Amino acid sequence: MSVRSANNFMKRTHHCNELRPAHIGQTVTLSGWVHSRRDLGGLIFIDIRDREGRTQTVFDPSDLTPELFAQAAALRSECVVSLTGKVRHRPEGTNNAKIPTGEIEVGVTALEVLNMADVLPFQIDDPEAAAKVAEDTRLQYRYLDLRRPEMARNLKVRSKVAIATRSYMDEQGFLEVETPTLFKSTPEGAREFLVPNRREAGTFYALPQSPQQFKQILMVAGVEKYFQLARCYRDEDLRADRQPEFTQVDIEMSFIDREDIYALIEGLIKRVWKTALNLDVPTPFKRISFEEALNRWGIDKPDTRFGMELVDFSEEFKGSKFGVFGKCIEGGGVVKAINARGLAGATQGQIETMTETAKGFGAKGLAYIKVENGEWKSPIVKFFSDAEKAALTAKLQIQEGDLILFAADQWLNACEILGKIRLYCAEVLKSQGKLTIDPHQFNFLWVVEFPLLGFDRENNRWYSSHHPFTAPVAEDIALLKTDPKKVRGQHYDIVVNGVELGGGSIRIHQPDVQKTIFEELLAIPPEETKLRFGYMLEAFRYGAPPHGGIALGFDRLIAILCGTPSIRDVIAFPKTAKGTCMMTDSPSQVSPKQLRDLYIEVKGKKPEVPAASTKS
Ligand code: ASP
Repeated sequence: MSVRSANNFMKRTHHCNELRPAHIGQTVTLSGWVHSRRDLGGLIFIDIRDREGRTQTVFDPSDLTPELFAQAAALRSECVVSLTGKVRHRPEGTNNAKIPTGEIEVGVTALEVLNMADVLPFQIDDPEAAAKVAEDTRLQYRYLDLRRPEMARNLKVRSKVAIATRSYMDEQGFLEVETPTLFKSTPEGAREFLVPNRREAGTFYALPQSPQQFKQILMVAGVEKYFQLARCYRDEDLRADRQPEFTQVDIEMSFIDREDIYALIEGLIKRVWKTALNLDVPTPFKRISFEEALNRWGIDKPDTRFGMELVDFSEEFKGSKFGVFGKCIEGGGVVKAINARGLAGATQGQIETMTETAKGFGAKGLAYIKVENGEWKSPIVKFFSDAEKAALTAKLQIQEGDLILFAADQWLNACEILGKIRLYCAEVLKSQGKLTIDPHQFNFLWVVEFPLLGFDRENNRWYSSHHPFTAPVAEDIALLKTDPKKVRGQHYDIVVNGVELGGGSIRIHQPDVQKTIFEELLAIPPEETKLRFGYMLEAFRYGAPPHGGIALGFDRLIAILCGTPSIRDVIAFPKTAKGTCMMTDSPSQVSPKQLRDLYIEVKGKKPEVPAASTKS
């Protein structure tokens, strides 16, 4: 078949989503890909697809030269065509309500085949078939995968949200400033990607984990309001939904407090949800302290779309005859429980999964009660007093069909065990149709008052819960020397439906306080502080304004808006869980000359060293 080689092909008059009964009688030209083809009673039906949608076209031998009809007959899926024809009603009873152009069709009078397509490695015209294709294959042929309407929609949402973000930030007086991606290595953070410097043997740039230091220095530089859609890099072992490179909406402001950040971000979320989903998000968002989040939901990013909250029974089980509970409370621990309503029929396998979760936190096992046939089925119930049983019934509102799960441990552990089990139970209940969540429900909240520091028992030292630039809550500064554990940070996370969308903090802007945090609390030796942060401490000596900021995970934000669980579905060319690009086959080897120029000698495998995790 002849394929047009010249560039003067018939130009489209409409996109493939545009034609309606109002266009009937008009002669139009459409350009795009052959989405699907059916031969029926001497006619050929071709659905032509472009970025915007698809339209049914009909090739009738009586309207076309035999040569053009033969060309149409030879078209395969994904050939590229331009065609001209008249818009008309579809025959009675053949309308397709699923697509916006479903009432019309185009009777083709002219066809140009702009390019042929080989047989595809996988079918892309059927979402169900596409869902079964191995993800590696989709990633290898990403250009085909991206033609699928669902993926094209994701890219469109991403672009629209990026533009809405920029205009909102511009309206709020922010400057978009690019910061370097060839940065300096900051040892001890998350593992970094290094870039060798050919000008000096043994020296390296590092790709930034975030523009944290640059954005704070921009505040010293008097920029006052900075934002950037910043590319960040973390060379961590990739957990399910992480990417080695990802995008953040990165923000920093001067002369502000936490309230200013909350108001700014609530406005941004409002704008973005309106742009992408035409939904009005109510503001202000709820604020929950870290302690309350753990106490009630067992996690610092609670999904509040369903109940099953954790209930404390430490008072009721004080001195209990059931030794496991009684002794735990005596030792300073707590007893907490959740009621998984309707899950009394949990299988042995499900109970085992939950027990393993508890054991993962060092618990010996998992105590539970199945409420079935009017009975509390559990080996521990016989140890409970009537008052204890009455307290459980009242506070958990126990009824037939419930599954009660307990954790008796130190406070944080007990919360986290039940927090995980709560989410697991919700998944099981969802799969059984016993829990439904409206896909348009978005429960935004701020989690605040995180502890400034955590204690690393293994290495016997403090670490920053967020990053070392976070300012302590003013009233708690005195505790830094006496009881660091109690110091709260001016840190905030924004959470929606159990997902951490972003986080940030008000920063320390006094060089002496910053130095104390580095050297006295985090025990970073002064030489190392100088090496890693010397330039920043110096900058702060020349007039650093009070400032603070936040970063939102842009990929995750888009995934939420698109209703997909995987951020890979909203990134044009993502990496696999092993950090490879299936399409370009990177990372790949380089030539000996390139290595020589970089003073690099490849010496085979090195044992893995686990990365510490102090993000910045
Ligand atoms: N740089 C921080 C992060 O990447 C966010 C911030 O504190 O602004 O998590």
